[in-house]
Amino acid sequence: MQKWKENLRVIEPYVPGEQPQNKDVIKLNTNESPYAPSPETGKAIREYDNDKLRLYPSFVCSELKSALMETYPVNESELFLGNGSDEVLALCFMTFFNSKKPVLFPDITYSFYDVWCNLYNIPYQRIPLDNNFRIIKEDYYGKNGGIVITNPNAPTSVYMELNDIEDIIKHNEDVILIVDEAYIDFGGKSAADLIHKYDNLVVVQTYSKSRNLAGIRVGYAMAQKELIAALEAVKNSFNSYTLNSLSQAAAAASAKDKDYFNECVNKIISTREHTVKELSKLGFETLPSKANFIFTTNKNISAEKLFNYLKEKNIFVRYFNKPRISEYLRITIGTDEQMEALINAIKEFKQ
Ligand SMILES: *Cc1c(COP(=O)(O)O)cnc(C)c1O
Repeated sequence: MQKWKENLRVIEPYVPGEQPQNKDVIKLNTNESPYAPSPETGKAIREYDNDKLRLYPSFVCSELKSALMETYPVNESELFLGNGSDEVLALCFMTFFNSKKPVLFPDITYSFYDVWCNLYNIPYQRIPLDNNFRIIKEDYYGKNGGIVITNPNAPTSVYMELNDIEDIIKHNEDVILIVDEAYIDFGGKSAADLIHKYDNLVVVQTYSKSRNLAGIRVGYAMAQKELIAALEAVKNSFNSYTLNSLSQAAAAASAKDKDYFNECVNKIISTREHTVKELSKLGFETLPSKANFIFTTNKNISAEKLFNYLKEKNIFVRYFNKPRISEYLRITIGTDEQMEALINAIKEFKQ
């Protein structure tokens, strides 16, 4: 008997979408951008001074922070940088959710939240979305140990108006509320504008989706400085140098290229609107999306069968075999050509 097994930490991990290595695949399953990062990012990486990698990264990450400070109404002490927003969120859960009361999040949302709760033994409660997959704000008025809201939500793509988020904040001034804004740039309004009004609000964003930089692993949190200082202390008790210096330089270069950013985001939004129309001609009902993906269903087609059929055709989308959403597909918005290939493949589908 291997007695050491008693000492293992056993946990069910988060399972991300597949990353097929075959280049011919049309990859619409993990919400990456179909467009290359800004040419400025490429230039920053090519011209990066190799000798700088000899040293540990800057503690203050000032170049990237300055670039972010031009976009959001925050100063350096109100910004926290991390190795992808998953890491930022994991550290937020550890820092802000230390109550015996449950942390609240929707029943259908980013499936990493319950994994972190299990990892840290945080009690949690899933609050059902309504029949249109919307958050019912009154459901968050009760006693709790903190709240996490993804806005726009994933995998539903549904956006919650900022005044409704503010209403939830106002009803929960004694706990921390995290807004995960991984998809906010595709048509929503960031809660970053509320940070100076509420000392219990944390807004988390990422370079992985709207910045076309999933591979660089940069995410950040914005909050009042007391919360950021608490987050820094937890991070520095875990790994003081989380964000490598090359990623910082690449992300800073991307942040400065606002025109390219707007061009990519606008292209994705217009491809999204076109795709929704084309799918509706084929009988699909798609939830109103403010993200770089859509969540769609068809009364006459089995979502699971369509998912498997598309995969055989080398078109990868995401299917969740979970209660309430097992007849939906989550489809990342690619280029116009990729979406046309998707639509054509669906037209040829026979159950
Ligand atoms: C993609 C995603 C993240 C994580 O992004 P990183 O690549 O780790 O920055 C966080 N939250 C949601 C809701 C996401 O969809």
